[in-house]
Amino acid sequence: MEAIKPEVKQRVQELRQLLQKASYAYYVLDAPIMEDAVYDRLYRELQDLETQYPELIAPDSPTQRVGEKPATQFASVRHHIPLYSLENAFNLEELRNWDQRWRRQLSTPIKVEYVCELKIDGNALALTYENGLLTRGATRGDGITGEDITQNVRTIRSIPLRLNLEGLEGLTNFERVEVRGEAFLPLDAFQRINEERQKAGEPPFANPRNAAAGTLRQLDSRIVAQRRLDFFAYTLHIPGMDDTSVASTQWEALELLQRMGFKVNPERRLCSSLEEVAQYYQYWDTQRLNLPYMTDGVVVKINSLKLQEQLGFTQKFPRWAVALKYAAQEAPTRVEKIIVNVGRTGALTPLAQMRPVQLAGTTVSRATLHNASRVAQLDIRVGDTVIVRKAGEIIPEVVRVLKELRPPDTQPFIMPAHCPVCGQPVVQQTQEAVTRCVNASCPAIVKRTIEHWVSRDALDIRGIGEKLVHQLVDKGLVRSIADLYDLSVEQLSQLERMGKKSAQKLVDAIAQSKKQPWSRVLYGLGIRHVGSVTAQILAQKFKTVEQLKAAQIADIEGIYGIGAEIAESVYQWFRIDANLNLIERLQAAGLQLAVLEQDSTTVSKNQKLAGKTFVITGTLPTLKREEAKALIQQAGGKVTDSVSKKTDYLVVGEDPGSKLEKAQSLGITQLSEGQLLAMLAS
Ligand SMILES: [Zn+2]
Repeated sequence: MEAIKPEVKQRVQELRQLLQKASYAYYVLDAPIMEDAVYDRLYRELQDLETQYPELIAPDSPTQRVGEKPATQFASVRHHIPLYSLENAFNLEELRNWDQRWRRQLSTPIKVEYVCELKIDGNALALTYENGLLTRGATRGDGITGEDITQNVRTIRSIPLRLNLEGLEGLTNFERVEVRGEAFLPLDAFQRINEERQKAGEPPFANPRNAAAGTLRQLDSRIVAQRRLDFFAYTLHIPGMDDTSVASTQWEALELLQRMGFKVNPERRLCSSLEEVAQYYQYWDTQRLNLPYMTDGVVVKINSLKLQEQLGFTQKFPRWAVALKYAAQEAPTRVEKIIVNVGRTGALTPLAQMRPVQLAGTTVSRATLHNASRVAQLDIRVGDTVIVRKAGEIIPEVVRVLKELRPPDTQPFIMPAHCPVCGQPVVQQTQEAVTRCVNASCPAIVKRTIEHWVSRDALDIRGIGEKLVHQLVDKGLVRSIADLYDLSVEQLSQLERMGKKSAQKLVDAIAQSKKQPWSRVLYGLGIRHVGSVTAQILAQKFKTVEQLKAAQIADIEGIYGIGAEIAESVYQWFRIDANLNLIERLQAAGLQLAVLEQDSTTVSKNQKLAGKTFVITGTLPTLKREEAKALIQQAGGKVTDSVSKKTDYLVVGEDPGSKLEKAQSLGITQLSEGQLLAMLAS
């Protein structure tokens, strides 16, 4: 056998180092050091040399990343160290509970640091390096046993085949190093794969996590190599690591992982208090939607590895870590139908009816498309694959259309020119995006109006649900709110599944509602922009309906917490004859259209936010800004327009402005609407 010339050996060595460096710069640092064409040429040179001298092929050669011929099945392997799952916390209170739990285990209170990392929505991998060389890559499996997918793991460019131990030799024993992290598909790679599957007539993956899982378990690693999986490392196990100077904290372990050649998520943060952890969590709740990959929460770990060891594990979880999840979730699904709903104000709301999908623990099959201009902006069509999002209590909405996955021959959706319920032509006012049915006796509008009137925050009439309202309106028994007060036991007992006894109960409940205060009646009228809080503010200022009716726009707008939009809407409402007629009938029926003397004593004396200054930014999920402002002010808090050192809290909604950045730089506590409400309710 011909001996290999030393020049050849050296050239092979050189090429490998160069290509490794280039690949690291490209995939891990995201800062390419050579052009693609140059890389390809060098790569081919190495490939040619290795073909010529197969004995020079080494397992860590860049040419070994391309994937091997298909495996028939994956071997099951036992993990060297079990992969625990983490305990979940779904809000800051649960985070505090976790913190208190581990603290109770210690005899003395201590101050600790917490490491916060984004929880990437991918698949956990366990990597084993022996003497610096990647020897095994396994799936999580049940945490004890996983599948050996080494061939596939090798194709992930951001996973080093050999650890960079330069300058670390001798510090500790690197004989066997275990690295854990998350393999994931970036969103653009996910879209491209689904597009290709679509073209090939294969069903698209439901979400990036499923796509990553499916890819990792591909028997043909050549396919895996094309899919561009990525990887963030987050756990390092080196026997006796914390006894050396190598890494005694999770933070140092992450830095060490980076130094060894791994990609470590750059958004990690070291926090010195639970408040800082909360800020990090709140910040990423809104910002994570701008990331090129999916995340579903924040992983919080106690920084000290010694303390981690001391706290140990429960049956299921490590005590020193918690996964703080986000309630809001997104998922892709397909639009089956687009329907149009007519609301209380006559507004036509387009809704997407979709293939049911699990979101934040509930099954979602409908999402709002808001209005005609939103529909046009999204260009959503039947058959489209869309991303739906559900945040807290809000109705799910379609955030994005994956146009790449659009089937052929779809039609743009056009809002109807006639009300889908009463058939009357609809109106689009020039200054607003909403299309409306303006037929006051439209059955859809009457039904929604009654539903609103009987709802809990309005007149709170128990026993009248959606189905009953439908019957009452469809049978012509009720054409307006006032008709409710004319209903007799005889009329009601003719309805389906309604005995005399329940009919009587209902008549009593309706009569009972005449005792509800003026503020609830005002809210129940369903005047646009008048929510329950606004109604309370108005009812305090205008103690009788006559006063409110006589008020000019300027009188209403002058009230603290009431904006121009509300004032205009209230003023216009009292200029419509049908509404004045309704007021007369309600008055005749005996409803409270003025503040009773004892009512004024029930005004909140609650001043729990006294001395605190708030700033509001972005669109809040349910409260209008004026409402949030009024709530804060009623509780004694102050609301200002700009963030300064004197600001105590920033209430953050969707699309926050520069105030958020300013608040972050000043370390001001951020609140979501839910947290603000919780604060007020506590
Ligand atoms: Zn209509």
